[in-house]
Amino acid sequence: MNYRHAYHAGNHADVLKHIVVARIVEHLKKTEKPFRCVDLHAGIGIYELHGVEAQKTLEWREGVGRLYDSAGNPVPLSPEAELLLAPWRQAIAALNMDGIASYPGSPEIVRQLMRREDRLNLNELHPIDAETLRERYGRDRQVSITQLDAAIAIKSQLPPPERRGLVLVDPPYEVTDEIERIIVMLSGGLKRFANGIYCIWYPVTGDGLDARITDALRTMSVPEGLRIELRVRRARMDGGLSGSGMIVLNPPWHLDTELAILLPELCERLGQDEFASAHVSTLAAG
Ligand code: SAM
Repeated sequence: MNYRHAYHAGNHADVLKHIVVARIVEHLKKTEKPFRCVDLHAGIGIYELHGVEAQKTLEWREGVGRLYDSAGNPVPLSPEAELLLAPWRQAIAALNMDGIASYPGSPEIVRQLMRREDRLNLNELHPIDAETLRERYGRDRQVSITQLDAAIAIKSQLPPPERRGLVLVDPPYEVTDEIERIIVMLSGGLKRFANGIYCIWYPVTGDGLDARITDALRTMSVPEGLRIELRVRRARMDGGLSGSGMIVLNPPWHLDTELAILLPELCERLGQDEFASAHVSTLAAG
């Protein structure tokens, strides 16, 4: 396990992923019934953008750094888009006084937005990162922490007692059979928790993985799925992360219309060349 998210925190892919996660949590809060979020690849929860790792890559400058000025003030999108961005911005503001020094990962975003009756499962396999999670959230009675392979965690943690919620699948794609692993995990997960909202993140790197994973996920028998993609520049075989996407199975109602408002503006702000593009579509339609 070489991957450490601290090098990539706050990049354009994190921005897309965390905005989508924050929107889903807001939808889950629309009814009084409690929900649970199962974060299968949790990372460490909070990242220091001036820390050694983030400073080495400076990826955050082309991500969250394009949505805030140097004093930490939001560089606003349209009022309509800002309304939808508010929960994500709120999670960032809660960690920062002047400037953007800390960036919330998926655990921290969900933890901040959830209500007293909601619950959060954080799973992380890396021993050091799992220990950081325990130090950060170990005393929080709304949070449970496990250090398991995600494939084991999904089996032991679904269905959640609340019978409603979000399952976040955000692996580092370090292993060559990651897509197959995801499909096996989701097939089992959907059998146990058919009405759960499943969010699967994937990279766009120019090697065709984005097409392979969306094709594979299309074969899963779920009634509904959304494909959300933000490409910030031309994809090249050796060019690193040129974009990212998310598949949302059983998406909340109207998530697609919200993203249709947000994505063009995010693309405008985060795009690096004329190949930048963004779209949301149903999974079946491609
Ligand atoms: N979800 C986090 C966020 O948005 O803030 C970032 C997660 S990062 C992309 C992926 C994480 O998965 C890493 O922290 C890595 O250590 C962990 N990981 C890698 N393989 C895993 C596995 N088989 N099971 C669980 N976690 C794993």
